[in-house]
Amino acid sequence: MQIDGSTTLVGVFGHPIAHTASPAMHNAAFAALEMNWAYLAFNVDPANLRSALHGARDMVLRGVNLTIPHKILALDIVDEVDADARKLGAVNTVSIENGKLRGFNTDGYGIAKAIREEFNFGFKGKRVLVLGAGGAGRAIAVKAALDGALRVYVANRTASKVEPIVAEIAKTKSECRPVNLAVDALAAVVPDVDLMINATSVGLKEGETLGLPASLFTPQLFVYDTIYRPAETKLLKTAADAGARTANGLSMLLHQGIKSFELWTGCKAPLAVMRRALRTAVYGEKPA
Ligand code: NAP
Repeated sequence: MQIDGSTTLVGVFGHPIAHTASPAMHNAAFAALEMNWAYLAFNVDPANLRSALHGARDMVLRGVNLTIPHKILALDIVDEVDADARKLGAVNTVSIENGKLRGFNTDGYGIAKAIREEFNFGFKGKRVLVLGAGGAGRAIAVKAALDGALRVYVANRTASKVEPIVAEIAKTKSECRPVNLAVDALAAVVPDVDLMINATSVGLKEGETLGLPASLFTPQLFVYDTIYRPAETKLLKTAADAGARTANGLSMLLHQGIKSFELWTGCKAPLAVMRRALRTAVYGEKPA
């Protein structure tokens, strides 16, 4: 990569940020398309998010991705929030155009595309159980409803966080039912579920588990974990051993990145290049 006075800059703000794989994915795409662009990672304390975004605008960056803990905070900072990002309750991509910060959410697109790619179906008509109601849980539950899921169950440790999701889904044709994040309560609804998505952060640490037993999973159930490091969480292993079809969150990361790339550049993203770069960065797989 050659950086010079004409290089267009984009990047990601997070806190912490050291483990991000997004620079590898985006820079591989810029190299493949011979674009004079570069993607950098910035460790931004949440107290400084406003000044960092204004700094990005003033330094004429083309855009930034936002990751934990910035996605919700940014809603009140950007100049405009895209309608879908407003519904999904978070901004993970900022586009900077003509001195304006415009907030988008590409996580919703990312999960829908990932489910289609991994399991060969869309949310339409499906009964979906989302574990977690943080930034990712909300975006996934609302996206499922916007895409026509029949029913969306949402289970979260802190019950109050489910309320805004129920309110948002009430504006769609889908039905939203809060569920307790306890094994008995989940066991009661799982027979009415086609697709379970883990959007809690439980499992990020090797061996950490929500404690869902093998008896909960059947070969009819599809289980997606938004976590991709480790590649197989305890949840995915238990589900796969019981015959359920499983996939991890790398495909969601890839497809949200594809959408961000296309938003900023207006170019079609090189999917295979970005997937390979991600797998190399995250799992150490050899580049082809
Ligand atoms: P967040 O807003 O901090 O939400 C964290 C969620 O995890 C909340 O629902 C929280 O419940 C729950 N949780 C945390 N510790 C728990 C515990 N000990 N027991 C039960 N629930 C617990 O974070 P986020 O942005 O939504 O991210 C959530 C997960 O999604 C992370 O693992 C992240 O890596 C993943 N993610 C993946 C992608 C991707 O592209 N693959 C994109 C976005 C996020 P409470 O509300 O009760 O605290």
